[in-house]
Amino acid sequence: MDITKYINSNEILQNVADLKEVLWVNNDIKNFSTVKNTYNIGMKDIECASQKLEKYASLIKILFPETKESNGIIESELRAIDNMKDVCEKYFNIAIDGRLMLKMDSHLPIAGSIKARGGIYEVLKHAEDLALKEGLITENDNYSVLASKKDFFEKYTVQVGSTGNLGLSIGIMSAKLGFKTIVHMSVDAKEWKKELLRSYGVKVIEYATDYSHAVEIGRNESKSNPLSYFVDDENSINLFMGYSVSALRLKKQLENQNILVNDENPLFVYLPCGIGGAPGGVAFGLKQVFGDNVHCFFVEPTHAPCMLVGMATKLHDDVCVQDFGIDGKTQADGLAVGRASKLVGRYMENLLSGVYTIDDSKLNLILKLLYSSENIFIEPSACASFEGVLTLDSREMKMYIKNHNLTDKMNKVTHIAWATGGALVPDNVRNEYLKE
Ligand SMILES: *Cc1c(COP(=O)(O)O)cnc(C)c1O
Repeated sequence: MDITKYINSNEILQNVADLKEVLWVNNDIKNFSTVKNTYNIGMKDIECASQKLEKYASLIKILFPETKESNGIIESELRAIDNMKDVCEKYFNIAIDGRLMLKMDSHLPIAGSIKARGGIYEVLKHAEDLALKEGLITENDNYSVLASKKDFFEKYTVQVGSTGNLGLSIGIMSAKLGFKTIVHMSVDAKEWKKELLRSYGVKVIEYATDYSHAVEIGRNESKSNPLSYFVDDENSINLFMGYSVSALRLKKQLENQNILVNDENPLFVYLPCGIGGAPGGVAFGLKQVFGDNVHCFFVEPTHAPCMLVGMATKLHDDVCVQDFGIDGKTQADGLAVGRASKLVGRYMENLLSGVYTIDDSKLNLILKLLYSSENIFIEPSACASFEGVLTLDSREMKMYIKNHNLTDKMNKVTHIAWATGGALVPDNVRNEYLKE
């Protein structure tokens, strides 16, 4: 792919190729009401996925006793982090107008990452489809009976390619139901994630190559076995829908905390982005719920900005970061993806406000600041979610604020850093991050 013409005509892409931190603002964002009906999915589908999750809750509660208190609903806290806000303002010598909150998907039950939304939804939906097809249950049954059907599910295989967290989510859920489970792990995956999966009886195949390659091999292996199902992060609409349900839940959480989102009180959300499925699903849901009052930004490592290059060139999955001479290597293992999803960039074309990149060196600093100020531990990938509030005074952001008539509203903004993972990181690995 010859990308010279893109780099020569676009200063931001030049900076991206030079591994500089940027904010790429999406000039194709549209008023939500004008594009709302142009998608093949919408609020009805999100509500349908949400209802399915309610139906699966009785089963989840039995398989994972830690979800007993929430009645089998997998959700995370939305927490104000005033101390972190103060610390960031002092440390970086900046002013953060508005309120700063953390959406703690880092602490979602079962998988300890945002992947607990999409991954668990997709596995349960697959299990439901199989059980209905084979006459094991009817739609009117209480699905908790599926907790004891290991002898049924073990005839089938579930496979997935992963940089770590998707593997954890799919692997743990599939193995608990009884599926034979194979996770194809890219070179970026942390050792402890592989060990944890093996402890659940999951077969982990390790590759010396990147994520796209692990997915490709996994997909092909799965194709050769008619009883195998491949969770396809590059194309899956089920994963996307599972993620999108978070928007309905967030709306309730904001209401419960008396936090307004309307014309006068905008919502800014910052989502760490790998292949795009998780942040894309969440952002799609948020736009359905809050329309033009929510401003969604993705954040990627300077060494793996696949969504940014895909959207800025409009080449989407036809271009990868390596085409820009970028190596795709980052400590943010959950974001170590060189080529974006086929679906997500296209869905985001008229919805996303922009994409930031963040330097790896800042991730560890943020990790430590959050831990010392709030006693909350999140993994390096999740720390990317703070880039937006740290660079509110950049030239690009100032322009965005002006163009969207937000100048007078900035002190009423609610900023949400979407923390995407961290709870399962073992103590010894945690201590190393905190020492660095
Ligand atoms: C997977 C992941 C993301 C991004 O999700 P994608 O669907 O790959 O874009 C962000 N943070 C963490 C911790 C993740 O595991």
